[in-house]
Amino acid sequence: MNDHSTCSYNKSIECTVAQCAYHSACDNYCTLDKIKVTTHESNPTMSQCTDCSSFSAKKN
Ligand code: SF4
Repeated sequence: MNDHSTCSYNKSIECTVAQCAYHSACDNYCTLDKIKVTTHESNPTMSQCTDCSSFSAKKN
């Protein structure tokens, strides 16, 4: 599931964060089998309050 060269990705996890090491090079999806979503707010009220804690910065 994590092989970028064959364009495999998890169609259940749509993601547009191209800067992430787990982002598919082929489409706007995540290549992980699962992710963890967290919040940085004490009382989240909108989607901007949530984060993907599985994010890892792409290395150049
Ligand atoms: S780990 Fe999170 S931020 Fe990274 S590609 Fe997957 S869903 Fe997107």
